[in-house]
Amino acid sequence: MTDMKCTAIVLAAGQGKRMNSKIQKQFIELKGYPVLYYSLNCFQKSPLIQDIVLVTGESVLSYCKNEIVDKYGFTKVTSIIAGGKERYDSVYAGLRACVNCDYVFIHDGARPFITEEILERGLEGAKETGACVIGMPSKDTIKIADESGFVKETPNRSRVWAIQTPQIFSYPLIRGAHESIRKKDMTAITDDAMVVEQETGTGIRLVEGSYQNIKITTPEDLTVAEAFLKKLVL
Ligand code: C5P
Repeated sequence: MTDMKCTAIVLAAGQGKRMNSKIQKQFIELKGYPVLYYSLNCFQKSPLIQDIVLVTGESVLSYCKNEIVDKYGFTKVTSIIAGGKERYDSVYAGLRACVNCDYVFIHDGARPFITEEILERGLEGAKETGACVIGMPSKDTIKIADESGFVKETPNRSRVWAIQTPQIFSYPLIRGAHESIRKKDMTAITDDAMVVEQETGTGIRLVEGSYQNIKITTPEDLTVAEAFLKKLVL
């Protein structure tokens, strides 16, 4: 146990357009449970986490309360709030809903396969500078393209990481960084570490998540997730 208060912000306010499905991806069922169930369950069980802020679409607030939070007994969920147009708007709404917290774990509800070990490694990493992101070394060689679709450069693969969530921050650090970036041009902000990088220059610890910690984005991700669930005891 810890005497610090840690809050998880779970994001589930995306449209999930790349899934081509009538049901939003966070509510699609995997082995009898909605995608969103799995990460909420991990935070609910974790002794590191005191409360959970769930950010979802305005039109599904009561669905989330009745069919997920109450149905599965996620008692740590203290607020269910509406997100915004972009992911960073949803994060900002989540940050404003946090009460007296020291650290926040910002997590994509579309990533079902987090574990207690990942949360532990993430919090340890965040204690160094106040900022930590979970990721894995890239298996693929990555190319940076120019505007015309030609290769501009090839970063050394040993230094390239694919970034996942949760991303863990000291609350005042991430709240201040979001407040400050909101006054500027925010196009191309795809994660929270970018906000901290650009606004504060704070060093951000990279910590290993797992290759199973995929984000459910396109239909083939569901096939992969089902294969993991056949083997996994979460
Ligand atoms: O769109 P993307 O896959 O990057 O979304 C990552 C996570 O952020 C998803 O869990 C999605 O529901 C959430 N999100 C959100 N509000 C938005 C856009 C995305 O909560 N406006």
